[in-house]
Amino acid sequence: MAIEYNRRQNKVISNHDDQPDVSSGSSSALKVENLSKVFESAAGRVVALKKINFTINKGEFVSIIGPSGSGKSTLLNIIGALDRPTFGKVFIGKIDVFSLKDHEIASIRNNMIGFIFQSFNLINRTTVQKNVEIPSIVSCNGGDSTKHRASRCLKILDVLGIKDKAKFKPSSLSGGQQQRVAIARALMNNPTIILADEPTGNLDTKTGNEVFDLLKLLSKKFRRTIIMVTHNDELAEKTDRSIYIRDGRVEKEVTN
Ligand code: ADP
Ligand code: MG
Repeated sequence: MAIEYNRRQNKVISNHDDQPDVSSGSSSALKVENLSKVFESAAGRVVALKKINFTINKGEFVSIIGPSGSGKSTLLNIIGALDRPTFGKVFIGKIDVFSLKDHEIASIRNNMIGFIFQSFNLINRTTVQKNVEIPSIVSCNGGDSTKHRASRCLKILDVLGIKDKAKFKPSSLSGGQQQRVAIARALMNNPTIILADEPTGNLDTKTGNEVFDLLKLLSKKFRRTIIMVTHNDELAEKTDRSIYIRDGRVEKEVTN
C-alpha cells in the first residue's frame, strides 16, 4: 500500500516517492465516486455537482475545463478536503477521505494535498520563506526542526528559480514570482496531489506559460499528480488528459 493513514499516531504515511506499488495492481492516486454537492442558502438551492465519477493515476497531470459556474472550484475544494460532498466519496490512494474524523481529514489536507490558487493567497506581512514554511509549521506531523524546515524550503525555492527572493515580501515580487512562491508552499509538505485552481488566470500569457511549464516539470520530473482547473485550451492540451465539466457533470474526457 502506497498511502495509509495511521489513526493511532494521527499521521499520514505515504511512500509516494518510491516506485509505484505494482503488487497491489492499483496506480490510482485519486478516485471520486458519485460526487454530488448541493448548496442550500437563503438565495435558494444550487446543485453544483451531480454524480461526478473519475479516476486519476499516480503521476498523471489532468486539466479540468468548463464554463464559469460549472462546478470546477467546488470539485477541487472537495477533492482537497476544504469542503465536504453532499453525497459520494473521494479516495486518496486507498483512503476513503470523508469516512475519517475531522482531525484526520485535516491531517490529510495538510500532508497529502498542495493547493495553488488563482490569486496566490500569500501573506504579505511576512517573507517568502515564511510563507513557504507555513504548511510545515501547521502540519500535524510536527517534529520538523527549524533548521530542516529552512533547508527544505530553500531547496524548493531553488528548484523553482526564486531562492534569491527568500527574504523578500511577496508583494515586492512580480505575479509570476508570487505564483512560484505559492507553488513552493504547495510542495513544502511533499504532497501526494497538487490541486491548482486557475493558476495562470491572473498572469499574462508569457508568465502563465512559464508557471505552467513549472507544473509540467513537477509532473514529469518529480512524478507529482496534478489536477489543474484552467480556461486556457492551449495549456489544457499539453496536460495528459482533460476532463470537461458542464452544469456539474462530466461532459467528456479527452486524452491528449
Ligand atoms: P466554477 O469554479 O466552475 O466557476 P463553482 O464551483 O465556483 O464554479 O460554482 C458552481 C456553482 O455552485 C455556481 O452556481 C455557484 O454559484 C455555486 N456555489 C459555489 N459555492 C457556493 C456556496 N458556498 N454557496 C452557494 N452556492 C455556491
Ligand atoms: Mg472557479
